[in-house]
Amino acid sequence: MLQKKTVDDLQVKGKKVLVRCDFNVPLQDGVITDENRITAVLPTIEKLHKDGAKLILCSHMGKPKGEPKPELSLAPVAKRLSELLGQEVIFAKDDNVVGENAKNAVANMKDGDIVLLENTRYRKEETKNEESFSKELASLADIFVNDAFGTSHRAHCSTVGVTQFVSESAVGYLMQKEIEFLGNAVNHPEHPFVAILGGSKVSDKINVINHLLDKVDTLIIGGGMAYTFAVAKGGRVGESLLELDKVEYAKEMMEKAVAKNVNLLLPVDTVVTREFKNDTEYQTVPTGEIPDGWMGLDIGEKTRKMFAEAIRDAKTVVWNGPMGVFEFENFAKGTKAVAQAMADIQATTIIGGGDSAAAVNQLGYGDKMTHISTGGGASLEFLEGKELPGVAAVQDR
Ligand code: AMP
Repeated sequence: MLQKKTVDDLQVKGKKVLVRCDFNVPLQDGVITDENRITAVLPTIEKLHKDGAKLILCSHMGKPKGEPKPELSLAPVAKRLSELLGQEVIFAKDDNVVGENAKNAVANMKDGDIVLLENTRYRKEETKNEESFSKELASLADIFVNDAFGTSHRAHCSTVGVTQFVSESAVGYLMQKEIEFLGNAVNHPEHPFVAILGGSKVSDKINVINHLLDKVDTLIIGGGMAYTFAVAKGGRVGESLLELDKVEYAKEMMEKAVAKNVNLLLPVDTVVTREFKNDTEYQTVPTGEIPDGWMGLDIGEKTRKMFAEAIRDAKTVVWNGPMGVFEFENFAKGTKAVAQAMADIQATTIIGGGDSAAAVNQLGYGDKMTHISTGGGASLEFLEGKELPGVAAVQDR
């Protein structure tokens, strides 16, 4: 049970509620190309709206680095939100975010009205979590709700600072769902618990590997990061991704796996190529015997079978990071095999956001998983066992 207040604990009728959303959606020529992040926060907005709150929404978009950048304005989001909600979302177009437009719009709000503020990162104080901007944001509202899981690993004014200057704070439904799924999977898993890590670099996932070795029955490592482990085992990896300064660490992790009685599975065969592109000659070789001039871009068939078998008996599976360069069809088979194995079992299956979420959706397995996290960086920090500042700052029940 979540210790934090949720929107279900709030009395919001007639109150001004500031909701931190993650509207950091991809834009092309002012058109939103993927609106998943907007639809993900609709349940919270609809609930607060139904309960008669005066809703003030805020979010960042991209990295304007503390300056107004018209191409990173949230105006297109206000327009799309109005369509999705069937109600006008008033856009407070202030370059300083909490300016005259925002203040006037909020002063004139009736119950059920919705205002969207401009990109919070137009203000340089935002990413430094400075008190001045936190206070300005808080001055607009009585209650603060954080539903931006994707930025909850950042201590910014609109995720952390603001909570100190409102009388009440809570997490939204998206945040609640993310914390419950990820938290239960990692801290109260049904066993066997299998974690799968991939992606390009060991260095990005050092703390994740270390933390998960304390929790899992089986840890599967694939993707570019596996070659550092192959070298740690004395193998040759040709031109494959390799972090020489992490070889010692890989050895330590292999020793830790033995000490903790964790079944650590590493690739035994690798699909190699001479050029980093899809349409090129490729072949499969043993993982520790990659010739000079060749690089591994995917796990081989034997490894795909081995990994799928390890997943088959799991009751909880957490996956972060693709098994190969899935963006190239010829090297997507390993990532696909893992997604298929997870889709085939009766278990809690969780995808940590970012590239693995993109891969699962792109390969058509999206609706087969128990939960696909909306936050790449945030879900990784969760898997490291860290407390997310944006969650920690919210009031307890
Ligand atoms: P990450 O952001 O660390 O999760 O890494 C995701 C990226 O890793 C994807 O863009 C993949 O193409 C890439 N990747 C996975 N396996 C390999 C590999 N064997 N060689 C190069 N890149 C890889």
